[in-house]
Amino acid sequence: MALSEREPGERALAEAEPAVFWNASGPQRAPLPGPAETDLVVVGAGLTGLWAAVLAKQRDPGRDVLVLEAGRVGSGGSGRNGGFLSDSITHGAAQGAWLWPDEIGGLIELGQRNLREFRAFLEAEGIEADLRMCGRTAVATEPHHVGELRDEADLHREHGLRAIFQGAGGVQADVRSPRYRAGLRLPDSGGLVDPGRLTAGLAAAAERCGVRLCEGSPVRAVRRARGGLALKCPQGTVRAGSAVLATNAFAAPLRRFRRYVLPIWDHVLVTEPLCERTWAELGWRDRQGITDGHNLFHYYRPTADGRILWGGGLPGYRFGGGTGEHLGRRPAPYRPLAEAFFETFPQLEGVRFTHRWGGVIDATTRGTPVFGTALSGRVGCAAGFSGLGVGASRFGAEAVLDLLAGEATERTAAAPVRSRPVPFPPEPLRWPLVMATLRALRAADARGGERGRWLRLLDRLGVGLSD
Ligand SMILES: Cc1cc2nc3c(=O)[nH]c(=O)nc-3n(C[C@H](O)[C@H](O)[C@H](O)COP(=O)(O)OP(=O)(O)OC[C@H]3O[C@@H](n4cnc5c(N)ncnc54)[C@H](O)[C@@H]3O)c2cc1C
Repeated sequence: MALSEREPGERALAEAEPAVFWNASGPQRAPLPGPAETDLVVVGAGLTGLWAAVLAKQRDPGRDVLVLEAGRVGSGGSGRNGGFLSDSITHGAAQGAWLWPDEIGGLIELGQRNLREFRAFLEAEGIEADLRMCGRTAVATEPHHVGELRDEADLHREHGLRAIFQGAGGVQADVRSPRYRAGLRLPDSGGLVDPGRLTAGLAAAAERCGVRLCEGSPVRAVRRARGGLALKCPQGTVRAGSAVLATNAFAAPLRRFRRYVLPIWDHVLVTEPLCERTWAELGWRDRQGITDGHNLFHYYRPTADGRILWGGGLPGYRFGGGTGEHLGRRPAPYRPLAEAFFETFPQLEGVRFTHRWGGVIDATTRGTPVFGTALSGRVGCAAGFSGLGVGASRFGAEAVLDLLAGEATERTAAAPVRSRPVPFPPEPLRWPLVMATLRALRAADARGGERGRWLRLLDRLGVGLSD
């Protein structure tokens, strides 16, 4: 078929490079040189691990901290996400209110404080990560989304957060898409960041405060050893007083945490830079991030150099929880993603995508992370931010350090930290259940939000994201 006869999405993808647009790694670091000793070892150099390392040094500058990363800094979700910086530690206020209606006020406040401290750190360290506190807009593209946006607006206002409901005319005057039926502008709900520069900047800040960082150093196992822990790496054994496992959607080196976090494949596209005239036609003055109201939603945002990043849609799961880089390069998921882009912005027909990539979302059964300790309280884990960890990973790092220190704090008392999500069943049961749930979510989107029996059962069990 000639290129001109193809659908706009397919044409736009023809030259998209299978590569991440952001640059998260910074300079290459050497692997662990051999057997080592340290006070605290952090496994994983994504945002959770890097924050844990930095904050551990802030709490006790004399403590020796070693970060062991299997790949490169930011090679997991931290270096390949959409850069939406949420103020929420509960995957949004609605999810928090659904799970913990009596505690939601305090949880919102913890999230807001986390974001203030996040910003203050970036400013103090001079980390230039294109941070813009532009809030977010949630858009209704189907009739049933409109009422949901009104409810969300009420919830935000109840807790002192600004929420501006926009009818079809209002939202389309802000960002021009014929699909928008209503919008909810949430100016206090965080903003956007360049996740690559954030992760690389945090790694550099960790090294400035004396953290040792090794790449290409996978931890294969963790066990108790006399007076502490022994972590097995291909280069040798690391003896440590305590450890933070920050391996997120990847298989944790301690089996007991693995059943809580599921690697769900999500996909992202980035366009070529749009010209000034096109931006003027689109509107989008605040250049904020936008999400739609589907269960399997799309998220999109402008980049600093005038492109649009577009992600989400239909996610995937591989039997056994495959996380290999090659799985994100398969072309199949990108075509429907591109088609959805042009359905939202038909006026952009002709614009090309330059980058496409996949990454694993760190899903738990309730959309909030799992925390815990093991091996006599020497190992702590914080993982499973369920696709909203850019901001919350800092809170997660603080909470896991509290747990390791045996300190009772406002964080350890918070419901998402003191209670655990329902674990996922093991394979071979896991795969059919996950696929059935993904199918049910897609079907609910197609029939006006009607959840169907399977999703209603999960809702009753407190599993999944709020309706
Ligand atoms: C496509 C995509 C889009 C997303 N968009 C957003 C968004 O817009 N906003 C948002 O808030 N969140 C988003 N997320 C989620 C967000 O990226 C994560 O929640 C966040 O980065 C979690 O950070 P982390 O450090 O816990 O995990 P990761 O960044 O995944 O870090 C874990 C690290 O551990 C390493 N590791 C694993 N096993 C071992 C081992 N055995 N030994 C040593 N190292 C190991 C990995 O290599 C990896 O570098 C998105 C995720 C994806 C995949």
